[in-house]
Amino acid sequence: MTETAPPPTAPLRARAEIDLAALRANVRTLRALAPGAQLMAVVKSDAYGHGALPCARAAVEAGAAWLGTATPEEALALRAAGLPGRIMCWLWTPGGPWREAVEADLDVSVSGMWALDEVTAAAQQTRTRTPARVQLKADTGLGRGGCQPGDDWAELVGAALHAERDGIIRITGLWSHFACADEPGHPSIDAQLTRFREMVSYAEEQGVRPEVRHIANSPATLTLPESHFDLVRTGIAVYGISPSPEVGTPADFGLRPVMTLSASVALVKRVPGGHGVSYGHHYTTPGETTLGLVPVGYADGIPRHASGTGPVMIGGKWRTVAGRIAMDQFVVDLGGDEPGTGTEAVLFGPGDRGEPTAEDWAQAAGTIAYEIVTRIGTRVPRVYVNEEQVG
Ligand SMILES: *Cc1c(COP(=O)(O)O)cnc(C)c1O
Repeated sequence: MTETAPPPTAPLRARAEIDLAALRANVRTLRALAPGAQLMAVVKSDAYGHGALPCARAAVEAGAAWLGTATPEEALALRAAGLPGRIMCWLWTPGGPWREAVEADLDVSVSGMWALDEVTAAAQQTRTRTPARVQLKADTGLGRGGCQPGDDWAELVGAALHAERDGIIRITGLWSHFACADEPGHPSIDAQLTRFREMVSYAEEQGVRPEVRHIANSPATLTLPESHFDLVRTGIAVYGISPSPEVGTPADFGLRPVMTLSASVALVKRVPGGHGVSYGHHYTTPGETTLGLVPVGYADGIPRHASGTGPVMIGGKWRTVAGRIAMDQFVVDLGGDEPGTGTEAVLFGPGDRGEPTAEDWAQAAGTIAYEIVTRIGTRVPRVYVNEEQVG
């Protein structure tokens, strides 16, 4: 669980401000980009670090008909908190809470016979005895989860239809996931679409009548209309972040970053030239200067790989992390400026105040922006703004 925010008047060491109006606007923008499809807001991993419950509620308000999570525990928590509508989860392990999932009316994903066997057994033990909603996942080329085409798919589809005819399950969806949708034009994209159509056709010929067929994640939703089918599963774009620089910038699609990460400068001090800075002395002051202490570190999710490269805006100027990022803090060279202690240091945000973005941090750390927002730790309170929907 993330910390709850202290009252707004209390000064905060660090905060991740979550703009729910931006999130709702992103959901509406994505729905307009995929007008023929329903939208699933993917809120796994605490909504990519933004806070699952407030984000799920805002997404539903903005018209997301579905919520998606990786684990059943994440999905059950949404249902327990009263989230209505369709909730799907796809990352199951043997013994997983199938009965609880069926009783909570979740859509569960099945990639192989072991999972179908477990969910049918659980569905027969539920108190409600309503058919379990089961979605069959096809591996169309990602090479991760999902059922292989050919004999494996034929066996899974056949067994699922059998269980459906017995009234134990309802096959609600046929679905798959892309490997390289964030590299528009990658040849695997067309190959996966072709394979998906074949696997769906086979299942439908056998008698499956899915409510939804779906394969599009954020990059495919943004760049590939023929991949939209009945439902698009958008994660990163809901949070206003582009899946990759190749796909474009958030602004190219009318998306706005939802998270702004900032901290209060804890100390400003004057030091002579030649002074080593932080563990290992990987930075030495080139001359007399001022140093600022920013009180967040790798325990808060600031990537240590961004030591010496991560950007932060203080007093309207971009500064770079000087030396190593430590567990709880890092230092910047303020070049002689003396902003007061308590000055806001903005690590990343939407970018329209001139601050760095999560993408800038991804580049500095040699990773993707998904990881930058998702890894922000539980010690950083999430502060929600624009919680009330206006108009
Ligand atoms: C995480 C995930 C998504 C969302 O991906 P984005 O690129 O963030 O839109 C969609 N589908 C599955 C199966 C996922 O695991």
